[in-house]
Amino acid sequence: MTWSKARAAQVHWAALTVPERVDRLRPALRMLADRIDEFADTVHRDNGKPRVEALAHDLGNSLTHMRWLFDSAADLLGPTPVPLSVLPNRRATVHRVPWGAVLIIGPWNVPLFIPLSEVMPALVAGNAVVLKPSEVTPASARIIEEILGACDLPEGLFQLIQGDGSVGARLIAEGPDKVMFTGSVATGRKVMAACAAHPIPCTLELGGIDAMVVCEDADLEYAASAAAWGATFNGGQVCASVERLLVHSSIRDVFLERLVDQLERIDPTRDLGPITFAGQRAVYEAHLADARERGLEVPIGGQFLDDSRLAPTLVAGEGVLDSSVWNEETFGPVVAMTAFDTDDDAVRLHNTVSCGLTASVFTTDLGRGRRMARRLRAGLVSLNDIGATLYGQPELPWGGVGTSGFGRSHGANGLVDCTWPQVIEESRLGAMEPKRPWWYPYSADQEDLLREFALAHAADGKRQTVKRLASAGRAAATLFTRTPRR
Ligand code: NDP
Repeated sequence: MTWSKARAAQVHWAALTVPERVDRLRPALRMLADRIDEFADTVHRDNGKPRVEALAHDLGNSLTHMRWLFDSAADLLGPTPVPLSVLPNRRATVHRVPWGAVLIIGPWNVPLFIPLSEVMPALVAGNAVVLKPSEVTPASARIIEEILGACDLPEGLFQLIQGDGSVGARLIAEGPDKVMFTGSVATGRKVMAACAAHPIPCTLELGGIDAMVVCEDADLEYAASAAAWGATFNGGQVCASVERLLVHSSIRDVFLERLVDQLERIDPTRDLGPITFAGQRAVYEAHLADARERGLEVPIGGQFLDDSRLAPTLVAGEGVLDSSVWNEETFGPVVAMTAFDTDDDAVRLHNTVSCGLTASVFTTDLGRGRRMARRLRAGLVSLNDIGATLYGQPELPWGGVGTSGFGRSHGANGLVDCTWPQVIEESRLGAMEPKRPWWYPYSADQEDLLREFALAHAADGKRQTVKRLASAGRAAATLFTRTPRR
């Protein structure tokens, strides 16, 4: 029922032009803006994050992304003419076709913006959308339902289906046309396996273990302040939060001191979001126990402040590279630190973990920073800012490599990925066509023609190309004289 309703609505929706769809969706942007404080309260209550984070990360990002999407979609989704080098007498156009009815499955950590940043492009591109948000944060998803309820959309075009993971699994089993999933690596594997059974395409936005590289020439006070925020905002429950610090050995001790100072200044009741999903506490406990067993230094933190808050925690020392905090996503206010001697070391240490979503390099030598950035295996790298900031930039493709998943949300890539490319090709010369020389009947003359034609495209330089084409022309003349082709 869910999918038949969605598909019926999608047929009408896809028949509209992109600007018409955007116009129908504008009231959603208006309502979100008009009720920004009320909705920020909802997200704050739903997820527990500080209100300022709900306002900036969920509401602010949603508004800026929708504005960019509405302004850019028509250009990005328009048909693209493609010149044909092998068949210059013909012309082709690539059209973007919506998938149909897509399933979007979201997590609880940024419960409004993450699903909305996929729902809106999918709708603008002409799809129907079924959203299965995390059962942990149902109220934030209801905001999406409410703002889309203010738009003139065909009934069933957007459907919110609340429920736990089994509901997500059932919806995939029912066979949507595409799945866009954001969540953990473990669930991502199940989602991909379920999609493979149909098969249907999926994009996977999975976890990250962001690393921040601090070079000896960096502004250390600024870098420490960035690290403290990057590791702990949203209670550290961010796929792009700083979980690893690679610090040049010559500044290791002084940087550690400044970072501890910055972490000490965090006021847990004002600044630090609580553990949103109780199950996450077990991960923190396991990672801290592992650090203790390895005899690692914990210069600050390491203990729970109450049932729902872990103190901002720094883990360092010999053996940290083998620890869970270094190699697995903690998804909490915990950061691990190690030292490097050369840029090559930093790159190698960065690239040893299996995921690669975001990273950053802090240095006053931008040339050095850029060179290092190009070698880091991560989807987004920031110089002198933390990678998570890039999540708020609507123009940029968001996504990672390795166990961070594949496919992109946001930006032109995210929007275009809400469609599949359809090629339509035709003659430049009108409807009547001669029979093709590569059709039946096969002959030696035909072979000559096709060989010369292929070699013309592999020839070195213009002269050789012209020679081969002339030879192909002669072969064509022979072929057409000996074997009239109709
Ligand atoms: P989960 O993987 O636990 O859940 C994600 C979503 O999948 C939830 O809606 C969940 O439902 C649903 N789900 C669970 N089991 C299934 C199943 N078998 N089939 C279909 N859907 C299912 O992730 P979290 O919600 O805990 O989110 C945290 C994770 O998300 C972290 O690893 C984080 O790094 C990652 N993340 C990645 C981002 C990125 O852009 N790369 C952004 C944000 C987070 P329910 O919650 O109701 O059980």
